[in-house]
Amino acid sequence: MRIDEVIVPATLSEALSALKRNPDAVLCAGGTELFSEGPAGPADRNRTLISLHGIQELRHVSRTDLYVEVGSMTTLAELLALKEGFVPETLRSVVHGIGTFAVRNLATLGGNLSVTDRFRDCFPILACMDALAEYRQGTASRWVNLNRLIGPRGTPEMPRGEILTRIRIPLGGWDLGIAHKLGFPRINSRKSSLFVALARTDKRALSDIRILYACDRALRSREIESSLAGKKIPLLPRDIESAVGAYADYCSHAGIRESSAARFLTLVRRAFNQLNEGVTA
Ligand SMILES: Cc1cc2nc3c(=O)[nH]c(=O)nc-3n(C[C@H](O)[C@H](O)[C@H](O)COP(=O)(O)OP(=O)(O)OC[C@H]3O[C@@H](n4cnc5c(N)ncnc54)[C@H](O)[C@@H]3O)c2cc1C
Repeated sequence: MRIDEVIVPATLSEALSALKRNPDAVLCAGGTELFSEGPAGPADRNRTLISLHGIQELRHVSRTDLYVEVGSMTTLAELLALKEGFVPETLRSVVHGIGTFAVRNLATLGGNLSVTDRFRDCFPILACMDALAEYRQGTASRWVNLNRLIGPRGTPEMPRGEILTRIRIPLGGWDLGIAHKLGFPRINSRKSSLFVALARTDKRALSDIRILYACDRALRSREIESSLAGKKIPLLPRDIESAVGAYADYCSHAGIRESSAARFLTLVRRAFNQLNEGVTA
């Protein structure tokens, strides 16, 4: 990427005005994704870069009984430094598995959720939690459920020309919280993938289950999740086999590579077993 101008706004409103004047500008948060993989975007033309680094209002973190709200420029290290229990434990474990200490010091939650060509690690867990993202453009703002940023083919459809300002994370308790990363830890690998499973039980029945596997695309079937709700815990072997079979059909209809599908099905089966063993989040 060739950059011929860097704009460093001190406030969000300055950043929004700069983006309005330069709708093709590249937004830069920590820069750890943007500058870690060679040319990010066409090299044949110069680009304007808007650095969000100095905008303090995008670093605000607050909490109510119902949710935590995290400014998009909050770094991953700052998230980990919050006192225990401030953010859901499964999210903490995902953040802890991202890059190295040095990377987490620069990398932001907003940047992690805004990568355009693949879902990075915080996306699957926050999508399963039904987190909302606030986007601002000019004087307008809107809240979007992260699941709406998954396109019909399971690939990211990130808003363009808008700034992600806050992420609202619901605090509903989960009885099962699994986040399992596959691939190469600590490096920025295209080959890593992340499996997430969250479940709630009520009176020994499964009241809510969410399963998302982010490989080269996001795999999630609301239909299978709904078909599992209400089942008694422990799940019967035939319930497990039928759900794993449904996921196998889902993968084959979606045209998922055999190796990815096999990994996904193994992780699904393991999550059901953990649920039966009463593993807590
Ligand atoms: C050695 C190394 C290891 C890594 N390991 C991992 C890993 O294990 N897991 C993982 O998920 N990632 C990993 N990464 C990638 C990266 O560090 C993270 O994804 C990071 O969270 C990206 O955040 P950032 O602030 O640096 O984003 P940036 O690089 O600044 O931006 C990323 C993208 O988001 C856009 N963007 C940034 N902020 C906003 C905003 N507020 N609104 C709209 N668009 C915005 C940018 O334009 C860009 O397209 C690694 C990187 C390195 C260098």
